[in-house]
Amino acid sequence: MKTFSIAIHGGAGTLVKGMMTPELEAKYKDALKDALDAGYYLLENGGTAVDAVEVAVKSLEDSHLFNAGKGSVFTAEETHEMDASIMDGKTLNAGAVSLITGIKNPVSLARDVMEKSEHVFLAGEGAMRFAEGLNYHIEDANYFYDDFRHKQWLEIKDTDSFQLDHSTKKDSKFGTVGAVACDHDGNIAAATSTGGMTNKKWGRVGDSPMIGAGNYANNKTCAVSCTGSGEFFIRGVVAYDVSCLMEHKNMSLKDASNEVINKRILEIGGDGGLIAVDSQGNIAMPFNTEGMYRASKSSIGIETVSIYKN
Ligand code: ASP
Repeated sequence: MKTFSIAIHGGAGTLVKGMMTPELEAKYKDALKDALDAGYYLLENGGTAVDAVEVAVKSLEDSHLFNAGKGSVFTAEETHEMDASIMDGKTLNAGAVSLITGIKNPVSLARDVMEKSEHVFLAGEGAMRFAEGLNYHIEDANYFYDDFRHKQWLEIKDTDSFQLDHSTKKDSKFGTVGAVACDHDGNIAAATSTGGMTNKKWGRVGDSPMIGAGNYANNKTCAVSCTGSGEFFIRGVVAYDVSCLMEHKNMSLKDASNEVINKRILEIGGDGGLIAVDSQGNIAMPFNTEGMYRASKSSIGIETVSIYKN
């Protein structure tokens, strides 16, 4: 039987001393484990990689601990604007949404764009009209509200600054989420979902919904989901860069992921990390920050749930 595997992340960043209590750490780890198990369960029962990444990301979106779905950061207008994407490495089909509001699980809307529209990327009002056409329920703002996120926003709301969830300045609560999986048939997929940056304005969109930047999957090479300073990840076309190094330079998943996160993205000033799998079920999870919420599980007996560098 072929090796199947899944890896997930809940954001990469800097942890400010004293912010992380043992209780909070346990909560994060439980939430990661729940999402991991949900995806792995599907794979174990013959589910596809696309199903597994969607279910894992939905579980993380439903937790207020992470900056995606419930618990998304606040924009400059005190609203939530969410971005998500999904890609199927077997067909190279992809779907993405950005600047959406009120949708409980943005990753599912991205999947619907992939499977029920002729397009890849829908944004803002148009994406919302598409969701209405599919009878998505629109949650009110309270559903997404998280006290910690609101405090983060209050601290910078009247300034011109916008803040990455994992800025070194003050906050420690990073949390863009993602999943990558390799199924029984060696098909791979990636999904990523985020609320973006605190106090963002002007319709700012990061790397997470951009195919090739924050998310990419191709059975020939790898499935990748990124987290970090989105502007740099867009400029570095990070997820596709890992794939290119594998395809054109014959690098392994591990070497290609390391080259991009610990060299190329650092050279242009970006910080963050990624999770990746290939069609043999190998997993890589490099990051150049202090920590990255992450977890992995594979049919050859690997199981990890970690936050800091080991
Ligand atoms: N990459 C995301 C963005 O720039 C943020 C993150 O990963 O925390 O929107």
